[in-house]
Amino acid sequence: MWAFVCMLSGTLVLLWQHLSQIDRLFGWARAPEDSQVPPGSGAWGHVFSALYRRNRIAAQDRQHLLHQLQRQSEAMQAMPDGVVILHGANIIESANGVAGQQFGVDLKRDVGLPLANLVRQPEFIALLDGSAPDGGLLMPAPGLPGHVLSTQLIAFGDERKLLLSADVTHVERLERMRRDFVANVSHEMRTPLTVIHGYLEMLADDPRGVSSEEAQRFIAAAREQTGRIERLVVDLLALSSLETGPPSPKEDLVDVTTLLETVQREAKTLSAGRHQIDVEAAGPASIRGSAQELHSAVSNLVSNAVRYTPPGGEIRIAWRVVDGQGLIDVEDNGIGIEAQHIPRLTERFYRVDRGRSRETGGTGLGLAIVKHALERHQARLEIVSTPGRGSRFTVRLPAQRVLARVVANAA
Ligand code: ADP
Repeated sequence: MWAFVCMLSGTLVLLWQHLSQIDRLFGWARAPEDSQVPPGSGAWGHVFSALYRRNRIAAQDRQHLLHQLQRQSEAMQAMPDGVVILHGANIIESANGVAGQQFGVDLKRDVGLPLANLVRQPEFIALLDGSAPDGGLLMPAPGLPGHVLSTQLIAFGDERKLLLSADVTHVERLERMRRDFVANVSHEMRTPLTVIHGYLEMLADDPRGVSSEEAQRFIAAAREQTGRIERLVVDLLALSSLETGPPSPKEDLVDVTTLLETVQREAKTLSAGRHQIDVEAAGPASIRGSAQELHSAVSNLVSNAVRYTPPGGEIRIAWRVVDGQGLIDVEDNGIGIEAQHIPRLTERFYRVDRGRSRETGGTGLGLAIVKHALERHQARLEIVSTPGRGSRFTVRLPAQRVLARVVANAA
């Protein structure tokens, strides 16, 4: 009897131990995923430690996946272009900050909404619907007025699409400038060619009917027009070599007095005695830079002064050093320029008075050449002008390009 009681109580204790281990196991199974596996004893110890190992591996996998997701989301946010992930009926699933700005979408508020409800441009809706050719579109940026976006829609995975958008405003502007430039050059070439063509036709149609005086007049006119084309080509080549040349100019030591006297001589030839042309150099000095480019810049300014100053006018070419900077002034008392034109004068083919520019042999490229040549020397062009009174064009060279032995008067 005593033995039976002992066996029964032993079995009950064992049963109680098993039940309490099972209870712990249930308790753990119901607890949150990352809670610790409880300690076990006896055979349960093996079960719990196997569960503990498995649990730890699962937790590590979860952590790894979480990191991966985080890295992908960070990579998407770091993209310089816009990225939007769409699902189903073009519903926004996620987007990066750049796309938010470009499309004017609030990333927190608008996730889960159809993108076509927020961006209502018909061409863009056609792109989302898959009816745009090539799956791409150039469009005004809804969130950035004045900007142009190049967008691309790419299908992937299960009913998902990737919308990529790049801000191509700068490329578009360059492309428009290129188109305008080609149109301008063609126009500038066509006019003289038409004139030459007309004279040649007249001579070819009736060679005997043209008197020798008339023939002389035709030839002189045709020669003038070929001169015009030649000047245009020379200026175009100068501009192109400034733009496509090495980023830094040559580092000659250009003597300022020689430079100013050379352009004075050229100006006197162009003026043919119609103007008073003076040079003032405040002491000997040199400029570090390309002799050819600096000459081209100053001679364009001086030639303009001659061409836009009526006979009897005065032109002054001066050098001064102010706070270490080298200043070349080209001043005239000619026709002057109205204030609204001044900011645009260095644009290619910009002219205040087209007729006067042509009459005096202008190509409309002189100040564009000046600007480019000066930029390459980290120098600036400053323009002060009063209509009817005259203009002053000042080249301001940085101190590191100036080797002056005499520091002269202040500005
Ligand atoms: P252009 O070959 O027509 O002279 P530029 O680029 O040299 O071309 O100059 C652009 C325009 O700036 C000229 O057409 C002219 O209207 C104006 N301009 C330049 N220099 C002067 C000046 N010294 N006085 C008055 N107008 C000037």
